[in-house]
Amino acid sequence: MDLQLAGRTVVVTGASSGIGLATARMLVAEGANVAVCARDLDRLRSAVAPLGDAGPGAVHAAACDVTDRASVEAFVDEAAGRFGGVDGLVCNAGRSLMARLPDTGDDEIRDEFSLKIFGSWNLVRAARKSLAESDSGSVVNVNAILSRQPEAKLAITSAARAALLNLTSSMAEELAVDGTRVNSVLLGLVDTGQWRRRYEGSGSELDYASWSAEIAADRGIALGRFGTAEEVAFHIVTLLSPLASYTTGTSIDVGGGVGRYI
Ligand code: NDP
Repeated sequence: MDLQLAGRTVVVTGASSGIGLATARMLVAEGANVAVCARDLDRLRSAVAPLGDAGPGAVHAAACDVTDRASVEAFVDEAAGRFGGVDGLVCNAGRSLMARLPDTGDDEIRDEFSLKIFGSWNLVRAARKSLAESDSGSVVNVNAILSRQPEAKLAITSAARAALLNLTSSMAEELAVDGTRVNSVLLGLVDTGQWRRRYEGSGSELDYASWSAEIAADRGIALGRFGTAEEVAFHIVTLLSPLASYTTGTSIDVGGGVGRYI
């Protein structure tokens, strides 16, 4: 199926590993141009260097902290200038804060809300005009099932994600007048750098596969395993496609059945 993404431009934040990198790779393979960012430019450049072989799309890489409005505006302007506009945004940069509420400092609480809210809103407001000029403006906020099913051991992350999910609904209504769609993918546990770092810090004697299988069982993941970055990227890319033109203000769970709500 032709997803009609060839020649379009998509901004992907947090593309030096995991879901952002897999999404950028899939977009390039579809013939889209991608503008990617992360804070560590050297790591980003080496991660995206092989994308030249992934397909016909071009890649523009820049350092940008998504919580810094000026840095985001400069990055989005650069992307629009280089490729002649922006058709899609993937607000993906971020992390989860694994901590119970009594163990979370006030600065950590502020940082977590700042990352989740500005990690999307800074991008959306910087790209709004370009997205409106596209015949298929689309924003995908990468969020988590925690937004609808909080866990006490990830208390503030869960609350900040709920705020972003709520905001995504308002953004969808706000940007509908421009013809821009805004949706979310809600993730369960996905095998990326985040989990590899947690494994390394865990001191576990198990190998990574057994360690992650234990966590999958403990969390009640119906499919019994973590997801892959490619399994998430597929849904992001289809939401960016003009073929998804009547889908806005909604979310897709990519959690292997970990979500227990109706
Ligand atoms: P990774 O740790 O593999 O990648 C995170 C990326 O985000 C890196 O490129 C990192 O680069 C970048 N990043 C982090 N903070 C910022 C910032 N302030 N500004 C710009 N770039 C930043 O993560 P995943 O691929 O696992 O996660 C992607 C998204 O999915 C995140 O938002 C995460 O919270 C969310 N998610 C992931 C889940 C999972 O199980 N993997 C579960 C639920 C949600 P750098 O450090 O150089 O900036």
